[in-house]
Amino acid sequence: MPRVSAYEMVEVRDALRVILEKAAPVGVEIVPLTGARGRYLAEDVLADADLPGLPRSSVDGYAVIASDAATDLKVLGELTAGRLGDAPVTPGTAVRIMTGGSLPEGTDAVVMFEDVEEVDGRAILQHKPRTGENVHPPGMDLTGGQTVLCRGRRIGPAEVGLLATVGCVQVPVFRRPRVGVLATGDELVDPEQTPPPGGVRDSNRFAVMTAAQDAGAEVVYQAHARDVEAILERSMREALAGADVLITSGGVSMGTRDLIKPLLERMATIQFGRVSFKPGKPLTFATTAEGKLCFGLPGFPVSSLITFEVFVRPALLKMCGAEQWMRPRVEAILGHDIRPDPVRPEYQRATLTWDEHHFVARTTGLQASSRLMSIVGANALLEIHPGTETLTKGTMVQALLLANL
Ligand code: AMP
Ligand code: MG
Repeated sequence: MPRVSAYEMVEVRDALRVILEKAAPVGVEIVPLTGARGRYLAEDVLADADLPGLPRSSVDGYAVIASDAATDLKVLGELTAGRLGDAPVTPGTAVRIMTGGSLPEGTDAVVMFEDVEEVDGRAILQHKPRTGENVHPPGMDLTGGQTVLCRGRRIGPAEVGLLATVGCVQVPVFRRPRVGVLATGDELVDPEQTPPPGGVRDSNRFAVMTAAQDAGAEVVYQAHARDVEAILERSMREALAGADVLITSGGVSMGTRDLIKPLLERMATIQFGRVSFKPGKPLTFATTAEGKLCFGLPGFPVSSLITFEVFVRPALLKMCGAEQWMRPRVEAILGHDIRPDPVRPEYQRATLTWDEHHFVARTTGLQASSRLMSIVGANALLEIHPGTETLTKGTMVQALLLANL
């Protein structure tokens, strides 16, 4: 049994480059507007017409002719939104108009109710209107033919609103990547069970499934397999049969029951088997002949989620067709001393808070790779470069933002 890994240690950026080279959208499908939330557009979407199509009042008031010398006008009638006037407005007259109403022919300004007194069917303007006052001109919001949403755009509330506005109810989106999640380990029991002495509840399967769904993927397979070669191989092949991406947890280190790397060697090509990264050095990435991606995440719960965050999430987002797959990066000042790892870049879980001029970063306590509590509540990952000297409070570091602050 060799005591030194046969796999070359790759740097984070090289690992990411290899992964992203292999990750590509997996197809396109049409979904109804009401099912488009969180999906990524597969095509540019254009406006089908000007919006508004006609000059429109932006207030409740009186539609008038701005150049009219008179300020005491006969009110011809009332126009509500969606109705068109039947007679043109001529000098000396006005039409009462509601917000969203299309300006009657001849008018070019709206004086709001607050600036008008109406007595006996006559509107008395309290000021001389300006051309275009309170009028939204045609095409102000959208111009017909204009690209309103670009391919790769994530569909959220504003995007759904725009799709509805331009009548795009059959929405072309990228298909979600299908993911199979396999937790490995003889010591694992299902969460509803009480672990026997030495056992642990399988948390990674559920945490990783959730992370995959958060990254836009569809989980099509999930299981727990014991550290028995034949069982593992069967589960891995089963997962891969229906998925675009296989994600395993555990069994990738140097132990005698760490069987994932040799099994991946058999069914795929290992692109790398170790990363200079903490937590999660044994992260393994392989690709199959059909172009499916396999990630062997380390077993420790923090290692599996943080390697997912840094390496798997960008791949899934790219497969989803997202235009942007990396987290935003900011600078922050350490709120306390931090001791770096001597050889590997470390991604410490932290909370960033805004302190007048800058973000201040405080880690979430003990950064042990078994301690899930170090992720709960974190809104950033600090990228701590390796070194032998303590980084003192006040040192500037870079952070990946995990959540909106
Ligand atoms: P391994 O990478 O398989 O050697 O696992 C490393 C550590 O992570 C061990 O202490 C395991 O018990 C723990 N671990 C592995 N898989 C899981 C899991 N699915 N849920 C919770 N802990 C796990
Ligand atoms: Mg194990």
